[in-house]
Amino acid sequence: MTTGYVYDPVFLAHTKRGHPESAERLSAIMSELEDSDLKEMLVHVPSRAAEPEELALIHDITYIAQVKSLSQAGGGYLDMDTYVTPYTYEAAAKAAGSTVDLTLTVLDGKLDNGFALVRPPGHHALRFQGMGFCVFNNIVLAARVAQQQRDIERVAIVDFDVHHGNGTQPMTEEDPTILFISTHQYPFYPGTGGLHEIGKGAGEGYTVNLPLRVGVDDAGFVDLYREIVIPSLQRFKPDLMLVSAGYDAHWDDPLAGLALSLAGYAAISKMLVMAAETLCQGRIIFVLEGGYNLPVLRVGVANTFRALLNRNDFADPVGPSPYTPADLTEYIAEAKHIHDLNPK
Ligand SMILES: [Zn+2]
Repeated sequence: MTTGYVYDPVFLAHTKRGHPESAERLSAIMSELEDSDLKEMLVHVPSRAAEPEELALIHDITYIAQVKSLSQAGGGYLDMDTYVTPYTYEAAAKAAGSTVDLTLTVLDGKLDNGFALVRPPGHHALRFQGMGFCVFNNIVLAARVAQQQRDIERVAIVDFDVHHGNGTQPMTEEDPTILFISTHQYPFYPGTGGLHEIGKGAGEGYTVNLPLRVGVDDAGFVDLYREIVIPSLQRFKPDLMLVSAGYDAHWDDPLAGLALSLAGYAAISKMLVMAAETLCQGRIIFVLEGGYNLPVLRVGVANTFRALLNRNDFADPVGPSPYTPADLTEYIAEAKHIHDLNPK
């Protein structure tokens, strides 16, 4: 397997001391790749800043200009949680453009798959507004450019970040060519992503929200993937799979309450890579979103790279969840009913 990644030092320049979404997150990931045997096995794809016209595929031009002028003026805030520094516009434009280029490199057959190691993250970014630490919606831009510039009709976006991708959903929910599947803690920030939000208009049925109560662990996630996520992908038949990869659903994440372990994250990463193998010639790109426990984040991302490299080994120095697992039997039955996934 040839697995690529994008990374740029400017992603570290967008940072704020004491903020959970800080440069230390990406530094920890890069040092894990250096310290393990992984980095030498990976292909670095050059970074590129998305042009405003390209960002305008998914964002309002006044919002793009607002981020640029706020950066040029020295920084500020897009909402209570989402800071802008003098480097934020460059970092966010490069995060978006580099995610696009990694995706196109895979589609051109120069790589089998990849992981965009980008900051700031993107899945909360709305058309008119950044929020939840996110500035531009990297993953939706990659999906749109793939559809416009390559022979790609159907894109599946799977989001395993603990927070609902409330930016991704409204950008895709009326479109039957993009399947959006999200597992997330609920009720929780940002408040969206209920079980009955299934898409709108022509896109009805192409949004699959799996809102989860506190405590859903490895066994629960594997059941959800086996019963709902993978069958939904099989029915959709994507030409390309993209993953909003947040590692904050880990049991020891400081911001949230789901209970995946690193072994569980490795298992669902593997299931997604294998689904891509059977459904879309292995074309899958993971895109970094959240994850705020640094020892978890660094190893979690490394384990996903191992899955991308078609390896079966993974590391879990943090261990299994100490919490009582939630029983999902009835929940899975209801979700399968809503999405018509029961056998006829
Ligand atoms: Zn998150």
